[in-house]
Amino acid sequence: MSVNSVPDPSPVDVLAIAAHRDDVEQTCGGTLLRMASRGLRTAILDLTQGEAGTRGSADERAQEAAQAARILGVTWRQALDLPDGAIENTLENRIRIVRVLRQLRPRVVILPYWQARHPDHATVATLGYEACFLSGLAKVEADAAPHRPFKIVYASLYADVRPSFVVDISPFIEQRHSALMAYQSQYANQAAGSGLFVNEEEIRDRTFAEARHYGLLAGVRYGEPFVQKEVGLVDDLTLVPVQSI
Ligand SMILES: [Zn+2]
Repeated sequence: MSVNSVPDPSPVDVLAIAAHRDDVEQTCGGTLLRMASRGLRTAILDLTQGEAGTRGSADERAQEAAQAARILGVTWRQALDLPDGAIENTLENRIRIVRVLRQLRPRVVILPYWQARHPDHATVATLGYEACFLSGLAKVEADAAPHRPFKIVYASLYADVRPSFVVDISPFIEQRHSALMAYQSQYANQAAGSGLFVNEEEIRDRTFAEARHYGLLAGVRYGEPFVQKEVGLVDDLTLVPVQSI
């Protein structure tokens, strides 16, 4: 599935890589909206097709993912077919991601945080990082030009960890919610899995409360948290973007 059936050859600025369709909508959808509003080109690579979900089929989720991509304003979205619930960090899987990285040539890659309740999420943090590294090596899959992203950041919304920084998503919170609700097979009130899933109103309450929590940390209304591993390099102390004390 692709938003653009013919991929645009120009590089993207930000690529979000996630295990499952709807992960990005939950953890960094507002950030993708904000980046798109700044004129940056954004993209999403989902690694599985969602066939293990309690609700809906992989086909339904493909349609819903395309709809969510339109709402998020991304220029490109595709899903690989790694096994849902059993993603492994293998050379073959790293190479499949390398091919996408070399096609899209992103400056920034967003990965899930490396500690997570769902094993797929934790695996994708490592798998994605190693793919970004391999992608920069000329002798790996030498038929495509090497490309290493400038920066990797980890979306940490569901991790119990203090973020390195928060993106202000206040103007985009409703749009982010619409993108999540595009997954009607997952989130619309229905009988299937009703013992496992909370209702739509509760989803709205919880996701807005999480965004409010991270917004408060940075002094804005709604925010999405990220962790970066690298130390920042500062040229001018007066331009370091922090909340005033
Ligand atoms: Zn997930």
